[in-house]
Amino acid sequence: MRPAINLLIFQLIFVVLLLATIILCFFVDQGGRLQFYLLLLGGLMVVVLLALILNFRGKFRASTWMTAICMVLGPWISILFDPAVVAGDFVPLIYVALSIQLCSILLQERVTILVSAIQLCATIAFVLLNPALHMINWPSLITFIVFTAIIGVLYGFSSKRQMAEIEKQRNRLLREEDKLRALTVRDPLTGLYNRRYMEETLDREIQRAIRKQQPLAVIMADIDGFKNINDTIGHVLGDKALVKVSAFLIKNTRASDVVCRFGGDEFCLILPDCHLEEGFRRAEALRLGVESLHADGSDGIERFTVSFGVSVMPDDGMTREALLGAADSALYSAKRAGRNRVSGTQNRP
Ligand code: GH3
Ligand code: MG
Repeated sequence: MRPAINLLIFQLIFVVLLLATIILCFFVDQGGRLQFYLLLLGGLMVVVLLALILNFRGKFRASTWMTAICMVLGPWISILFDPAVVAGDFVPLIYVALSIQLCSILLQERVTILVSAIQLCATIAFVLLNPALHMINWPSLITFIVFTAIIGVLYGFSSKRQMAEIEKQRNRLLREEDKLRALTVRDPLTGLYNRRYMEETLDREIQRAIRKQQPLAVIMADIDGFKNINDTIGHVLGDKALVKVSAFLIKNTRASDVVCRFGGDEFCLILPDCHLEEGFRRAEALRLGVESLHADGSDGIERFTVSFGVSVMPDDGMTREALLGAADSALYSAKRAGRNRVSGTQNRP
């Protein structure tokens, strides 16, 4: 599972800053104050590391919230439990503003606004309730917190909008890429796979069949007397007939089968894990299906038929050339034998 990269970078920066602060505490604080800050910063680091693990496990929501809660509670634990703050040391109050900035990076704008409001009220209450802090220039401190909150929210808003725009563009590019890929592997008229894709796929399927010691059948199909059909009904309806046969072939084959337009009125089907008998049976079913496809001629296309040639691996060979060659000569036999039939180079089971 890939972690959320932005969150991960943020968490790593947080850990480094906490480490730096711990080192600083050794120089600045002594006695009980040092112990308190070591405990607080160490505890925060453990929670952030746990959030980091959750990020790696794909629990992004929980990870984000754990990190955000750390950022908000850190300064407040310091403010409420550090005896020096009550004695007039207002500096930890400034860190409240920092946590608002950090929340704006990770959380939604409305959550950041809520956090800012709570932080602001708590800060005002804390200053008013502590006589020692009355001496500080607290209107200036509050202004600083308000400004920080506004900048944080606006920055978070604009950067999230930019991210959403980038994501939208990325998805559009992926869709375009899919369309382009489809153009290179599909026949534009029928939507079936083209010959190039079929050749690559057949090579792959042969290797897979050899590896798994499974049979593989190839069926070549060609519409009977299609030149005449074109002459009778015209090329536009001829195209429609090709599209209908293609849709029929797709509908009546398995998802694992590969149906392609070999060229003109000729189609090639790759049937993985299909032995000789089943290959003949399925070709026969397709032949009968096409025969009754335009029985009523309601769409202007009269009844027509298709001839089929079947080859199988290993009987007809173990290469693309051998299997296509065998299916093609079987198709030729079917045409010579009178069309609208299924033939194979192997004896029909
Ligand atoms: P056979 O039974 O021997 O197959 O006779 P046939 O008339 O079908 O002969 P063949 O398969 O050689 O003829 C294919 C014809 O298919 C030739 C061409 O005019 C027509 N054709 C090829 N591509 C298209 C196409 O995209 N649209 C249309 N409408 N016709 C096409
Ligand atoms: Mg034909």
